[in-house]
Amino acid sequence: MKIEVICIYCESGSVSGEPLTQFTVSGTWAMDDALGRQLKPWPFFRKVPGYSESYFANHCPHCGAAQDDLYLHSEPDQPLYSIPRAAPGSIKLTALVGQIQLSGDESFEI
Ligand SMILES: [Zn+2]
Repeated sequence: MKIEVICIYCESGSVSGEPLTQFTVSGTWAMDDALGRQLKPWPFFRKVPGYSESYFANHCPHCGAAQDDLYLHSEPDQPLYSIPRAAPGSIKLTALVGQIQLSGDESFEI
């Protein structure tokens, strides 16, 4: 069954003070209000309950199962692996407003 999943993709930003371009963020564990507000249209992207170090993940809208965030980002056949190189039409980009801050793991593929 196909479900919608989302992730945070940055055209540009900085990670630990280093400038980076075209990267996604996985394993998000914290985000600022500016980002939290803008993610409200995607309520299935929420913290996984039951972990001591909980992180944000996509959840199946049908059964509520959490989708492994790292898996979606790290396997070449998964949708969030390379957003700049994704097949046309497979990814819908929604622009965020302003600068946002979040804590997680950056990943990118050149
Ligand atoms: Zn399901």
